Amino acid sequence: MQLLDRVRTLSRLGFLSILGWFKKLSLVQGILAFAKIGFICIACPLGALQVFIASLFIGFELALGLLTTVLILWILGRAFCGWLCPIGFIPHKSSRSFYSAPFIAAVFLFGSFLLHLPLFCLICPVGFSFKIIFFVILGVFDPVVIATLGFWTLIIYFLNRKYVYWCGYICPVGFLQGLLAPKPLLRIETGENCVKCGRCALACPSGINLAEISWRDRLRCTLCLECLNSCPTRSIKLVFLRKTVKS
Ligand code: SF4
Ligand code: SF4
Ligand code: SF4
Repeated sequence: MQLLDRVRTLSRLGFLSILGWFKKLSLVQGILAFAKIGFICIACPLGALQVFIASLFIGFELALGLLTTVLILWILGRAFCGWLCPIGFIPHKSSRSFYSAPFIAAVFLFGSFLLHLPLFCLICPVGFSFKIIFFVILGVFDPVVIATLGFWTLIIYFLNRKYVYWCGYICPVGFLQGLLAPKPLLRIETGENCVKCGRCALACPSGINLAEISWRDRLRCTLCLECLNSCPTRSIKLVFLRKTVKS
């Protein structure tokens, strides 16, 4: 395992441990798409939109949670995907591209409207991965949750290895995170030394060619930093407020 992979694994483990510890102390409350830690509300963007559409009502706390999430996304982009989400533990290798996330998000939002239910929340692998961690910490055994997450793990593993990278091209939760903050303060940029060799696109699990990056490509960037060392001219930089953080 490379150093960057190790650091990202540690980051996910640290985040989940802190969250689990908060849960054990009853400092985290929440259902489906929403969580409250102390006085801070936070919401999954897809989950919140589904609840609004399904109920045709905008609840105060959920709206506040969504606003907080949007603010975090404007600052940190999809760093949650690259550094914290438990689904990131599943290895990836595929270099194919088939961008289906916008279509999947649209289908589930429309389905939520028709059935008056937050549909994707009922099956969301991200939600199930958090549930399992909370259940382990609280000593709860739920075979349905275990079986569903096991099923998702196999599907995502298969897609990541043989077909297309789940987090870059398929996950509607990640897609909405990108859509709500297409140009975050923390982002990847290229400098003037770029010779358009395309090596960054080969290193990037989301297939992003930084020499020709468009706003649509940016939606797929999880800030995983796998491209940083691929550039022969050292043109790739992680910037925050236009200042270089890492190159
Ligand atoms: S794209 Fe979805 S599954 Fe992947 S890391 Fe982001 S939220 Fe998790
Ligand atoms: S690897 Fe570097 S030089 Fe090559 S296209 Fe990407 S940013 Fe440009
Ligand atoms: S552009 Fe770089 S940081 Fe963004 S997803 Fe691709 S490899 Fe990761």
